[in-house]
Amino acid sequence: MKAAKEQLEENQENAEDIKPFRTASIMVNRVCNLKCRHCDIPEKYKAGGRMLSADQWVEVIRKLDEMLDLELIAVSAREPLMPGATREKTLKIVQASKELGKIAGIVTNGTYLKNALPEFSTSGLVLDYLDVSLEGPKEIDEKIRGDGHFERVMAAINDDRLLEVTEKFFISLTLNAWNCPVDVMRKFIDWMLGAFDEPRLAVLILYPNVNVPKDLWLTDEQFLRSLEVLLSASDKFADIFIDVFPGSIPGLRDIIEKGYLPGSDELLRDRTGMLWGLVGENLYVRYENVRDLMRFQVRVTPGGRLIMPRDLEKVDYGRYTKSAVLSDGFEDTLNQVLREVDAFDRQIDPRCMGQRCFPLCRGDNFRCSFLRREQ
Ligand code: SF4
Repeated sequence: MKAAKEQLEENQENAEDIKPFRTASIMVNRVCNLKCRHCDIPEKYKAGGRMLSADQWVEVIRKLDEMLDLELIAVSAREPLMPGATREKTLKIVQASKELGKIAGIVTNGTYLKNALPEFSTSGLVLDYLDVSLEGPKEIDEKIRGDGHFERVMAAINDDRLLEVTEKFFISLTLNAWNCPVDVMRKFIDWMLGAFDEPRLAVLILYPNVNVPKDLWLTDEQFLRSLEVLLSASDKFADIFIDVFPGSIPGLRDIIEKGYLPGSDELLRDRTGMLWGLVGENLYVRYENVRDLMRFQVRVTPGGRLIMPRDLEKVDYGRYTKSAVLSDGFEDTLNQVLREVDAFDRQIDPRCMGQRCFPLCRGDNFRCSFLRREQ
């Protein structure tokens, strides 16, 4: 995986001294057109309140960059390519980000992608990355994401304009109990290798919170069998990486101890603050624990307010938001978040200390079998 390897090598500069708040993660609206089974945010939010206009989003991006000198601006969560005002905001955010010289990308469910391509082409914008969700072969994808999803994504993939609007195009798959069987994974990987000249795959390990039905949660064994399939095909991909949230894998500690995934001194922190490790040839893992997400990301709600990573999982997320980016008190709020990160570090279970999983998890695995937290 040349691209990820190069990215890691480049990003190691000053790895010991990474400033906080490197990424702005933008949720541009509160709604999505799909009701995917594995979605870890509520189907509907209770939160109301005014949403930012496209022009206000531009102000937000400029202010954040002026304060923080961001590395990356990502539009993700809910569906950022819905037609109308949402898409207009997304395009303006990307445009403002590129004008500031930032890395900018979008994560979309792909249903409106073909429909959005002319607007991208007209704007002349080229994303640094575009992640489009598919959950496996058609029958599995539609079981998880609903009828018609696979075909709509395929319509975009078959459109020649797609690769003109992004530097890198990723298929993004959320690994769960329904799409992890070996035959399903192999069929999907074979399809990807046949469909793309430069296949790029992002595998998000299901984040199993209260919004996700338990029949989708992964076991350690299911994860390990899927990892074998990914390893056996990784040299044929241009890019392939796995996103692990500590709570995704109950036996994360033992899996690292046994050397299936990298831990402690095998990890590198990139310029966005995220921890990475090499799993096998061309296969990388990125770990996302709450403490790092709080320290290195600024997550902004549709109303332009700061919110902590886990609070968007709540139906009434509006009650948990912090100050508005465009308010005078925003800098104080960021300092308060850093103090919360320090407090978070002081609450870690002492049994985690010294484990090879500790730097990447920081006690965040709420299903940890080593600590007997299994649910
Ligand atoms: S909760 Fe502690 S022991 Fe369990 S995986 Fe995380 S750091 Fe390791």
